[in-house]
Amino acid sequence: MTTLLDATDLDAADPLARFRDEFELPDGIYLVGNSLGAIPRRAREYVNTELDRWATLGVEGHFTGELAWKDYHVLVADQMARLVGASTDEVVAMNGLSVNLHLLMISFYRPTQTRHKILIEDHAFPSDHFVAESQIRQRGFDPATSLITVPPRDGEETLRTEDILEVIAEHGDSLAMIMLPGVQYYTGQVMAMAEITAAGHGVGATVGFDLAHAAGNIELSLHEWDVDFAAWCSYKYLNSGPGGVAGAFVHQRHIDDQTLPKLIGWWGTNPDTRFKMATEFDPIPTVDSWQLSNAPILPLAALRASLDIIDEAGGIAALRKKSVQQIEFLDRRLAETLGDRVASLTPTALDQRGCQFALQVTSGNGREVFEALEHARVLCDWREPDVIRAAPVPLYNSFADIDRFVSILEEVVQ
Ligand SMILES: *Cc1c(COP(=O)(O)O)cnc(C)c1O
Repeated sequence: MTTLLDATDLDAADPLARFRDEFELPDGIYLVGNSLGAIPRRAREYVNTELDRWATLGVEGHFTGELAWKDYHVLVADQMARLVGASTDEVVAMNGLSVNLHLLMISFYRPTQTRHKILIEDHAFPSDHFVAESQIRQRGFDPATSLITVPPRDGEETLRTEDILEVIAEHGDSLAMIMLPGVQYYTGQVMAMAEITAAGHGVGATVGFDLAHAAGNIELSLHEWDVDFAAWCSYKYLNSGPGGVAGAFVHQRHIDDQTLPKLIGWWGTNPDTRFKMATEFDPIPTVDSWQLSNAPILPLAALRASLDIIDEAGGIAALRKKSVQQIEFLDRRLAETLGDRVASLTPTALDQRGCQFALQVTSGNGREVFEALEHARVLCDWREPDVIRAAPVPLYNSFADIDRFVSILEEVVQ
């Protein structure tokens, strides 16, 4: 009984506990915010507002009122910027994550005969691998010689920063770009983004991060770390709904650089002349100049709902504070209840992980355990070959969720 009291006490003392009511959660214990964040109740209201404006204003909705669609993407820029440690002019909500990686690589991957390599991780998310591979081919290079991957050491699951730095030094002059995750999607490992950026710049490479599992999960300081570019999706920890609009970051020092190659469209040109239909591109003096199309208002409305809740909760610093307590609580409950029957691939140091746990059942029947969890309505996810990912999200998961998860896991591991 002490453990249950423990969770109850922690929930009672939790200043963010009331935000759980801001979400509609599927039946059961929802621990897959790392894959698809839960729906904010007010997303219905925000989306309905736009449907109503569409119904009553028609095309005039583009220009009418504070929610004018022509500027709608600007409404989320500041909120997104604060989540990733950037200024408003460095962040834009547009497209999907993989699309943004391509658009940014067009600007930041500028291979030459001597400097043409892209460094990614060996277990990169397939889309990131495909993006890098196809960018290399598009420029007339061969992934066999231009795509460098850094693996964990034999018998290890996570990457060592020293190994990444060594590969950067080794390829030095031939390295054009580094693209790594902020948080690794499989193990949950947080990369040493500041150190890697400095090392990349030290050899003359550009450095970008895929923040799919980092945005809304951990604190980031993209501007201060001097990262060149970054992109992230918003449907994981930012709860924008399936296929939600992604984010993109370009460091301020690149924004005015007219020598950067860029795919351009009418949403990147000066809004004052845009509708005069001039064909002379007059780039918006922010990362907005990377926009191509007019913004998808309905998914952006859903994203705004979530970003407003995150702000009300005190932003990423407040979320992370609770998240660390939840991580420690889950660590402790797993240790006292399951001991070595369950292992975690996720680093133990708190500065090297976010809220996602990558659990392995040591007896080897992980898949059966995962299915039994599903049957008991504990929603986690399975990643081949043998990992159960579970992520207690501070905005809507309670300590009681974590407690029940461990109790059910113990039952099914038996
Ligand atoms: C979730 C995720 C994606 C998904 O890409 P989309 O373009 O949003 O479909 C890509 N890369 C990583 C690392 C991810 O975690």
